[in-house]
This record gives sequence, C-alpha cells and structure tokens, in this order.
Amino acid sequence: MGQLIDGKAVAARVRAQVKTDADRLRAARGLTPGLAVVRVGEDPASKVYVTAKKKAAEEVGFHSWEHHLDARVSQEALLSLVHRLNEDPAVHGILVQLPLPGHLDADAVVAAVLPEKDVDGFHPVNAGNLLLGRPGPRACTPLGVMRLLEEVGCDPAGKRAVVVGRSNIVGKPMALMLLQKHATVTVCHSRSDLPSEVSRADILVVAAGVRELVKGAWIRPGAVVIDVGVNRKEDGKLVGDVEFASALERASFITPVPGGVGPMTIAMLLGNTLEAASRQTRHVLGPEAGVGS
Ligand code: NDP
Repeated sequence: MGQLIDGKAVAARVRAQVKTDADRLRAARGLTPGLAVVRVGEDPASKVYVTAKKKAAEEVGFHSWEHHLDARVSQEALLSLVHRLNEDPAVHGILVQLPLPGHLDADAVVAAVLPEKDVDGFHPVNAGNLLLGRPGPRACTPLGVMRLLEEVGCDPAGKRAVVVGRSNIVGKPMALMLLQKHATVTVCHSRSDLPSEVSRADILVVAAGVRELVKGAWIRPGAVVIDVGVNRKEDGKLVGDVEFASALERASFITPVPGGVGPMTIAMLLGNTLEAASRQTRHVLGPEAGVGS
C-alpha cells in the first residue's frame, strides 16, 4: 500500500518560505515583488485560477494586479498591455492566463513577455534555457512535481522515469527537468504503447488530461506516481489521469487528485515571482539582494 504525497502541505511550506524571503527582501531593500496577471474573456476556469493566483500572491505579501480584458480585445491592445507591464519596474512577473480566445495568437503574446518577467516559464527563451540546462524561470507545474519528488526523498538519478503527455507546459518541461536530474526518461503520447512503457517506470508522471487513463495494474510495484491530470466527473468531483485506488496498492508514493500537484503549481509561481524580483533588482541592489537558498 502506497503513501499519499500531501501536495497541500508541501505547497503551504513553499508559500511560507516565499513569504519569509519576501519579508526579508522588503526589510533589507524596501522591495516588494509584483505579479501582474492578465485575463481575457469570461472562461470560468481561468477566472478561478486567476483569483487563486492573485490571492496567493497577496498572502505572501506581493503586490498583485489583475488586468481583465474583454473577450473581443484585439491582438494589438493585448500586446500593448504586455509591453506596458514589461516596462513597469514595479511588475517583476507577468502571467497571461491561457487559453486565450481563438482570434488571439497566444504564442505571440507569450513571446511578447520579457523572458525575465515570464514567471510561467513558457517563453521560448526560457523553454530553451531549460533545454540547455541554463538558469531561468521554469514551468510551474513540472517544477512543483520536482519538489514533490524531493519531499519524498525520491532522487531521479539513475531511475527510469516515464512521462505521459508531451505538452509544452507540462510533459516536455517535465521530461527535461527529470533528465537534468539524471533520470533515464521516456516520453509517452497518444501513439505510445502505454501499458508496456508505464510498467517500466520507477517514477511515473501522468499529464494526459484523460480520466483514469493509466490503470493500477500497469504500475510497477514500488513506483512513485505523480498524477498531474485534473478531470471533472459527472457528479462534479475531480479525478486524475491515474486509476487511483488500484495504483495506490502498487505505488510506494502517489499524489491524490485533488490535493497533490494542483496546489504546487501556484506555490512555484510565487517562488518564480520572488526570484524574478530578486534577479531584476540585483543589478540595482547588489548581489546580496538575492533571496532563497
Ligand atoms: P494537453 O492536452 O496539452 O496534452 C495532453 C498530452 O497527453 C498530449 O501530449 C497527448 O498526446 C497525451 N495524451 C492524450 N491522450 C492520451 C492517451 N490516450 N494516451 C497517451 N497519451 C495521451 O494537456 P496539458 O499537458 O495541458 O494537461 C494535461 C493534464 O494536466 C490536464 O488534465 C490538465 O488539466 C492537467 N494540468 C494540471 C495542472 C495542475 O496544476 N495540476 C497544470 C496544468 C495541467 P499527443 O501529443 O499525441 O496528442
């Protein structure tokens, strides 16, 4: 029987550390990290996420602003807001909540954010930095997964890691972060032979967006299982991409849904914002303005 990985508790610890570091930065340098969140239209899920991000930022003592634009906003108007935020020295992190309405070019908007203010880690420069193993903001969800692995004492070095999903925001950066930590990584997608790939995993990360796609019987006994998926059932309850009850029988550690990876994403966003503020002001404030470790 596996042990649950309590993402809520780990996320609370990460947020508390960010708050301590932010307080220190403010006391020492008079600097308050600032996070600007841009939301376009009335997508209900986006509204929930943006509200949660803003609230979390305020709770750790950051400045935070929500810019809510009409669903019919033009690409030019949206880009002009991003440029304004790029130039605002009080804004250290910019997040454009995706998805955007269909008439907008999300890639162009993400690329318009200054890489050093891209606290989502989605900018092509930051994706490239991850690929090359250089520092820079990292995508929050996979970063949160890495933290959860660390919390349960799971060192990826030498382990077989299988990532199900190859999206730019979860699967691919996840695979690269595991590779950077010396795992032997396999990336699966809709054309993979999932049962056979999954059965080889010491570390299994599933981010497919398909309810209970991965069956417990496929899981290697003792594997660490991280379920990124969030799917809503007919009764409104949330379930992951892994068949939880049967996976729990075989895994050594497993994340629940909800309460596993979900809370980590926002916690890592706060960490990225703090680091961005620290980095952007270092040349003004001196190297000792750095916070964190
Ligand atoms: P995408 O839809 O962008 O990508 C899904 C990936 O899963 C694709 O690479 C796809 O393969 C693969 N896939 C889909 N069906 C199958 C299948 N039957 N067998 C194997 N692979 C399959 O999703 P995201 O990466 O954006 O999100 C994945 C999940 O994670 C979603 O449930 C989302 O809600 C959740 N999520 C949770 C977050 C959190 O904070 N907890 C944050 C972000 C996402 P192919 O490329 O071949 O199409």
